[in-house]
Amino acid sequence: MAELASYAVNESNSRGRKIAEPAPHGRSEFQRDRDRIIHSGAFRRLEYKTQVFVNHEGDLFRTRLTHSIEVAQIARSIARRLRLNEDLAEAISLAHDLGHTPFGHAGQDALNACMKAYGGFEHNLQSLRVVDSLEERYAAFGGLNLCFETREGILKHCSAANAAQLGEVGQRFLNNRRPSLEAQIANLADEIAYNNHDVDDGLRSGLITLEQLAAVPLVAEHLEEVRRAYPGLTGRRVVHETVRRMINTLVSDLIRQSEHNIGKQNPTTLEDVRSSPAMIAFSTEMNERQRALKNFLHIHLYRHYRVLRMSSKAQRIIGDLFGVFMADNRLLPPQFQCQAEPDRARAVADYIAGMTDRYAIREHRRIFAVEEVS
Ligand code: MG
Repeated sequence: MAELASYAVNESNSRGRKIAEPAPHGRSEFQRDRDRIIHSGAFRRLEYKTQVFVNHEGDLFRTRLTHSIEVAQIARSIARRLRLNEDLAEAISLAHDLGHTPFGHAGQDALNACMKAYGGFEHNLQSLRVVDSLEERYAAFGGLNLCFETREGILKHCSAANAAQLGEVGQRFLNNRRPSLEAQIANLADEIAYNNHDVDDGLRSGLITLEQLAAVPLVAEHLEEVRRAYPGLTGRRVVHETVRRMINTLVSDLIRQSEHNIGKQNPTTLEDVRSSPAMIAFSTEMNERQRALKNFLHIHLYRHYRVLRMSSKAQRIIGDLFGVFMADNRLLPPQFQCQAEPDRARAVADYIAGMTDRYAIREHRRIFAVEEVS
């Protein structure tokens, strides 16, 4: 493998872990971070958390777990090509969604509304909270005690008010600085992954059609290419061949544009990266084409009445659970019981955010369903 660029994150320019630990044997610090993330409970729960489609709607749809693995795959390819730290890009990608509530964005919006008087709820911050304190796996410390650069990458965005309370990892939001290029890669790999797999899942679900998608230039161009090259091809293979070509086009564009930006900014150290404008980016033209695809997905998939029905149900489940736990703390499992506000609300939010879709549905039933008397 090619040597890392001088401005890549490495073990010698890393700001290290909050609690110092002996160096790992036979693996890098960032491999250790990745391994800790994979062994966490929050990572396993991603399997039963909605990306767009609720887990029980079908076995082939993306879940937060398969989404995160796809993000990691894309991020690693890009990082390696740019001679950046592949292990760090992978660790950030695998951890980026750990703080998501059940039921996707509908769940986060509902929990955020419930938490309005107590500082709100934001999945990015929650991902950091999971790795910093909620995971209970080690004798010597709470959380996973990850390296600063992994934590920095997980905290993709953050309000100034929240940043001020986060110490070193929040500083860049107050000082207008950028995270590592590895973090920038994980962020855009997330976009490449969900735009493409949502096309695939959307088609699989029947909520959108290839005919509709032909109006989106990024899709149309690749679909035509596939139909020209393989005139007899039908069914799923048309879709998959189109989507894989779209991913390839986006990844290639991102690498080309980022190489150009890096050449222009000419960083030599990691600190140069932090003080320069973001360098990992799509070309302007590709940004436009991606925006058109996103718009299409918003209108035709994320706001499809069948998706909205599930979102509405999800919001009621989250709202009901929050309300009942706030009203009577004794209904919570003991480790989440806490008397004083706002810690009490935060503990309820932690409990709810940690639930999988099906756990939330069951918990709702356990508390609200009145059994028929036979
Ligand atoms: Mg994501």
